[in-house]
This record gives sequence, C-alpha cells and structure tokens, in this order.
Amino acid sequence: MRKLELHWQILIGMLCGLLFGFVMTYVDWGRSFVQDWINPFGTIFVKLLKLIAIPLILASLVKGISDLKDISRFRNIGLRTIGIYIVTTIIAITIGLVLVNILQPGEGISEDTITRLTETYASDSGVTSKIEEASRQKDSGPLQFLEDMVPDNAFNALANNSLMLQVIFFTIFLGISMLLIGEKRAKPLKKFFDALNDVVLKMVDLIMLSAPYAVFALLANVVVSSGDPDLLVALLKYAGVVVVGLFLMIVFYCFIVAIYTKKNPFWFLKEISPAQLLAFSTSSSAATLPVTMERVEEHIGVDKEVSSFVLPVGATINMDGTSLYQGVAAVFIAQALDFDLSLGAQLTIVLTALLASIGSAAVPGAGMVMLVIVLESIGFPADKLAIGLALIFAVDRPLDMCRTIVNVTGDATVSMVVAKSVGKLGEPHVEEWDDFYEETKRPKNK
Ligand code: ASP
Repeated sequence: MRKLELHWQILIGMLCGLLFGFVMTYVDWGRSFVQDWINPFGTIFVKLLKLIAIPLILASLVKGISDLKDISRFRNIGLRTIGIYIVTTIIAITIGLVLVNILQPGEGISEDTITRLTETYASDSGVTSKIEEASRQKDSGPLQFLEDMVPDNAFNALANNSLMLQVIFFTIFLGISMLLIGEKRAKPLKKFFDALNDVVLKMVDLIMLSAPYAVFALLANVVVSSGDPDLLVALLKYAGVVVVGLFLMIVFYCFIVAIYTKKNPFWFLKEISPAQLLAFSTSSSAATLPVTMERVEEHIGVDKEVSSFVLPVGATINMDGTSLYQGVAAVFIAQALDFDLSLGAQLTIVLTALLASIGSAAVPGAGMVMLVIVLESIGFPADKLAIGLALIFAVDRPLDMCRTIVNVTGDATVSMVVAKSVGKLGEPHVEEWDDFYEETKRPKNK
C-alpha cells in the first residue's frame, strides 16, 4: 500500500487532536487527563525540535559559508535577505492596516462584551506578564539590538535557544575565518561540520516520524486550554480580519514564487506544508526551524549557501504574520475603546510593528508583548493597556497559530527568491530517514 504523504498524516493527526480535545471538554476529568497524559508528548516533540535547532544552525551555516567560492557573495546574500525581509514586512503591515480600516471590526463590539472581556482577562497573569515583559524590553537604547547580537561567550550563546542571533553571529565569524585560512588547512573542520550537518538533518527526519502523533497531543491541549467559547465568538469579526489578512499574505507569496522563481506555487505550498502545519501546531517559528530548513533544502532545492543564512535569520527577525496581526490588533483596540488614530499614528504603527517584528522572539505569544510597544508608540494610555490586551487575549492563541504559519512561509519564500537571484535554486534531492538503514544491518567487512 502506498504510504500516505507526510502532510496528510500530520493533518489527520491535527484533526483527530482537535476532535479528541473537543470531546474531552465535555468529560469531567477530560481537561486534566489531556494536560497530564496527552500534552507531555507534544511538549517532548517541541523539545526535540528545539534540541537540534542550534546544532543545525551551526553545522549548516558553517557548511554554507565554507562552500562559498567567493566571500563577496555572502555580503550579497546578506544584504538582499535583509532588504527583502523589510519589504515583505512593510507589505504585511500595510495589508493589515488597510483591512482593519475598511472592515472596522472594533466598531461593532458592544459595551457589554468589552466589560466581560475586561473582567475576565485584564488582571489575568497572561496579560499582565506581557505588559511587564514589554516594559523590560522597551527600556533599552536604540543600538541595544546590535550589542545583543554579539556574544561574549560562544558556549553561553550555543547553550541558549533564545540567543539565536548570537549563534548566527559566531557561526558566520567562524565560517569566514575558515575560508580565510585556505581550503587545505580548513579541511578537517569542514569535514566535521559537513558530517554534523548530515547527522542533524537525519535527526529531523527521525523526529518527523512522530509528528502526526505529536500534533494530536498539541492540538488536543490547545482545545482543552482555550477560553470561554462565547467570548471567542464575540471576537469573530476581529479574528476574521486577521485571518483574511494572513491569507492574503500567503496569496502574495504564491505570486512571488510564480512570477519571480517561475515555480508552481501549489507545488511550493505542498512541499513546505509539513513545516506550515508544525508552525500552526507549535505556534513557534523557532521550534519549526529545523523542519523548515529540511523542507526548503531537500524538497524545494534551495542551496545551503542561501538557506543556512536566510532561514535562521528569518526565524528571528522576519515575522510578516506577527506584524500584520500587530497592525490589525492595535487599530482594533483603538476602535473598540474609542481612541482616535490619525494617519500619522497609523504610519507610526507601520514603523514600530516593523521594528517589533525584528525584536519579537520566535516563540508562542511573543507578538502580543511587542503589541504593547506598538500601542505605547501611538500614545495609547498606559492605564488602559491591560484593558486593550484583554480585548484580544481570548483569541490570541488561535491567531498566534495562524500568524506563525505566515512567518514560516515568508521565510521560505524569501529563501527561494534570494536563491533564485544568486543562481542557487536547484532541483530537490529528498533523503528519507532510512536511506542508509540497510547498511547498518550488513555485517562489517573484517
Ligand atoms: N508565535 C510567533 C512565532 O513564533 C510569534 C508571535 O507572533 O507571537 O513566529
């Protein structure tokens, strides 16, 4: 029998998880059963993905740079990547702002709903912790991000998943220095990183074998942990605007793929879909990164020279979905709480949401922390922040899941565009987890 393709397996896992979670909300012991006995398997899966993220960035970026025939090409790739990331993010925020201004989801929301949402969430620790986190991040100077990018201890950086930019900095430094000592002297180190890279990609294949079961656990847990369904329904119009915006972004990527890279966008979506489905299930582009890298390199044919830089950088600084959401959420809150927004304020949103997307961590809920900074930049009263966030908190998790899909798809699209522009978009070369399995069973030659 032909094996079902991975994205179908994951999709079935997700649907069963949703259904199971839904049924469990009707059973007395259902919630705690899912949280205690099902969710840990999802958490283990996410941990496994995070476990290999740093070794993968290290090995693949060193490999990517040391394969370069010409160092100046790296500068080329770097500048293009950052430039395109900024453009796509500005397009995303603009789409969000146009939609929210035309459809005005905040106008129809009743006083009663606002009161209920405020009572339920304004003092919720989820909301207050986001405001505290934002004020911590805001207190830094304008060049803080540059300072933060440079590690003072390589091993410290490698030991901390949230210091991804530091790891990228160290690895680029290492890779360039390897090029500069000449091929012959760098050979042993290059061989080591090449092999490490192959091994980590194999680990991705192995982890992905459990993906359909893991997404079942993750989604069942999302359902049993979600808030009051009535409040979710009250926010349907706002959530709808965000989802329509995110959908338009995917359409935009498809156009870019079709027009610039001359590839079939449906093929692109199909090949990238396991990464998108994991983005949805984990709400974290950082956790999804190993899978995104594997799909883009092996299934789409982007050369490692490009993907090893574009994707890890993208996971940390390029968040089109998050910035679109921030634009919509900021204006929605202003509309609902009768806070007037001038054109200047909306332009400020574009700028701060752009910076916020660079500064947001690639983890669940990070976009909401940066939303606080966006709201403050337009002069939103500090004492109303908690109320503002309370308005959107109930639907934040599902929207986070959706915007993470866009974050990941945006990175993959840009990697294709950059690869095409430097002649590094080749043919796919898929490796399965068991390609060399037989070799491990054969008796070794004496
Ligand atoms: N969860 C998103 C990500 O990891 C960030 C956010 O929008 O909260 O890409």
